[in-house]
Amino acid sequence: MHQMTLAEIARGLAAKKFSSEELTKVLLARISQLDPQLNSFISLTEELALEQAKAADARRANGESGALLGAPIAHKDLFCTQGIRTSCGSKMLDNFKAPYDATVVAKLAAAGAVTLGKTNMDEFAMGSANESSWYGAVKNPWNLEHVPGGSSGGSAAAVAARLLPAATATDTGGSIRQPAAFTNLTGLKPTYGRVSRWGMIAYASSLDQGGPLARTAEDCAIMLQGMAGFDQNDSTSIDEPVPDYSASLNESLQGLRIGVPKEYFSAGLDPRIAELIQNSIKELQKLGAVIKEISLPNMQHAIPAYYVIAPAEASSNLSRFDGVRFGHRCENPENLIDLYKRSRGEGFGPEVQRRIMVGAYALSAGYYDAYYLKAQKIRRLVKNDFMTAFNEVDIILGPTTPNPAWKLGAKNSDPVAAYLEDVYTITANLAGLPGLSMPAGFVDGLPVGVQLLAPYFQEGRLLNVAHQYQLNTDWHTRTPTGF
Ligand code: GLN
Repeated sequence: MHQMTLAEIARGLAAKKFSSEELTKVLLARISQLDPQLNSFISLTEELALEQAKAADARRANGESGALLGAPIAHKDLFCTQGIRTSCGSKMLDNFKAPYDATVVAKLAAAGAVTLGKTNMDEFAMGSANESSWYGAVKNPWNLEHVPGGSSGGSAAAVAARLLPAATATDTGGSIRQPAAFTNLTGLKPTYGRVSRWGMIAYASSLDQGGPLARTAEDCAIMLQGMAGFDQNDSTSIDEPVPDYSASLNESLQGLRIGVPKEYFSAGLDPRIAELIQNSIKELQKLGAVIKEISLPNMQHAIPAYYVIAPAEASSNLSRFDGVRFGHRCENPENLIDLYKRSRGEGFGPEVQRRIMVGAYALSAGYYDAYYLKAQKIRRLVKNDFMTAFNEVDIILGPTTPNPAWKLGAKNSDPVAAYLEDVYTITANLAGLPGLSMPAGFVDGLPVGVQLLAPYFQEGRLLNVAHQYQLNTDWHTRTPTGF
């Protein structure tokens, strides 16, 4: 039962082969049996899950239908869930029970999805390895000595290990696509503004975007359908109609123009990954796509620009966690300053503290022009590169990551080494573009992802290309041994 994709579950529920309650019980048992090896959950919500499953079964018995009605999922632990701990992977929010549901949580619940729990993540979504969580590192089901990627590592590990078919995640600089690549999943970061950020704890507001992690493009289409849409509670949400993402999955790729940036294949890319990317290009050519070499000349400046902008926004967003309005409060403060200092010093882990300091420095009066303003100008150049490229091509293809998942602890002493691994993913966030990562093969038994980028609001095109690729390849069907 646990091997079923979301689409298979939807068909099974519609055909009354099993109930949502039965499936939910099987998956909850599987989580309690297997998750201790992975640490992919921060909280389990068994009671809520069984209640929602029974309600979904009743709705179905009353004649309702829908691909998400009775489908078991989990939420990254930065989506607010009413009355349920929403920790953001931090000691700071260990005791925080959200007073309301995030829009994404409410929309999926209304569609009938069943919440099994809240998944582990890098603290405040800062990281690429899921090692900065206050609740401990998450392990990669493909090799328990390796990281699952981050910051949505818990959602990724849980779906990859078949503990559940799909989960929500967020992507500020790659946190959906990179863990998807590291765990052999399909992950979609939508266009900025496509999915509401209301009730999603902010890391870097101009970059953050929620999206799905699942095994197939078909399942990502189902999840995105439930998550996307205008929300008047989010001032950056965009009032554009939501297309039927499942309806366009089977369009032909004949004549599709795929741009491959020459900068993607320079030094730093593992040659074994380069070869798998070339194989995926050949596969898409067989399906009728036409390949064109393109250039993204400002890509080399993207990492430094991102690692100024994201911490700058984080330093501002995280100022609310002061032990008074929100979050952990220290014992016996001597005065107000002592309360702030110790509450924040005790509540935030080292990576979060580093980003707050970098961000506050970049925004300070004396350095604003030299760092923050400069980074914003680079951001515009990165966006312009994409706009030029999309005049000539329909999608852009390349690796999701320069290397496969590294060993736990391997990059802990050198934060910049981890930042460099984000080179292929962060440009989409700087430009606000949609991006998808899908399985493309293995290196030393570890999964490798291929990334597709599209113009604004072309999520349907990404899902269409990925689905056609998945009909003709079987990388995405491989299951990690032991799960
Ligand atoms: N690795 C990037 C960072 O640490 C991206 C994280 C994310 O997308 N949330 O900022």
